[in-house]
Amino acid sequence: METVKIIIAGARGRMGAEAVKMVQETESFQLVAVLDHKHEGKLLSEIEGFSGADVPIFTDMNKCFTEIEADVLIDLTTPETGYIHTKTALEHHIRPVVGTTGFTDSQLEELKQLAEEKGLGCIIAPNFAIGAVLMMKFSEMAAKYFQDIEIIELHHDKKLDAPSGTAVKTAQMMAEVRETKTQGHPDEKETIQGARGADFDGMRIHSVRLPGLIAHQQVLFGEDGQTLTIRHDSYNRASFMSGVKMCVETVMKTDTLIYGMEHIIG
Ligand code: NAP
Repeated sequence: METVKIIIAGARGRMGAEAVKMVQETESFQLVAVLDHKHEGKLLSEIEGFSGADVPIFTDMNKCFTEIEADVLIDLTTPETGYIHTKTALEHHIRPVVGTTGFTDSQLEELKQLAEEKGLGCIIAPNFAIGAVLMMKFSEMAAKYFQDIEIIELHHDKKLDAPSGTAVKTAQMMAEVRETKTQGHPDEKETIQGARGADFDGMRIHSVRLPGLIAHQQVLFGEDGQTLTIRHDSYNRASFMSGVKMCVETVMKTDTLIYGMEHIIG
């Protein structure tokens, strides 16, 4: 297998640092540069915790994508930055693997068109944890049989977007197969605003943010006399890395945008 040359954006972050480790430990992958908004001109190895990673840090993405020969960009930054990185990478014929969450539908549509125009693979995965992807698939199966559904997603308190990308994606998948229904009592009233959570096609999504949590989600289904709960927990960020690796391998073999790992896992 040919070596895949990789740039990581957000390498100093919690996900990014794990991705650096995964790339370094994978024989067929090579880290060639990182994109940051600090430390221009330094090597990543000069930053505490990254000894052995002798690759340049760029703060100018155009300069990075022009000067560095790379196959794949792994983006683990913030929604605004991640979107610009993804678009610019495609324009430079670099295939993006994006874990950054919070892209809008119109941004996704624009990136899809750009990937198609360039004939390049691009994977945007709101959740790289394989167990979480299975949780979404199982929820989609159950939504065919249960109309009343509530999602509770729980994350650490540094998370910027709510609801999580995974919760939105799960709701979208279930809405495809679920008969639309407005849930709860028709006359229900919130005595404190937001008590019933966000409304997605009548389903409810509740976002919990607490220190100590990583990434967790449960989907609750109910009907007369029975409930079903499907739950997934990520206890550390290493749980996402087998998925990142799978996406890097897959993006090299595709020529369109794939949104969600459920389209990769059979
Ligand atoms: P984090 O620890 O805050 O890391 C984000 C990193 O991006 C930081 O190093 C930050 O630097 C850097 N950054 C910010 N602006 C930048 C810019 N303009 N250019 C380059 N780098 C920039 O966050 P995280 O927990 O690793 O999460 C990163 C993203 O991944 C989030 O969108 C999160 O929702 C998502 N996520 C996805 C999955 C998945 O499975 N797909 C799982 C977990 C998290 P500073 O710290 O200096 O600002």
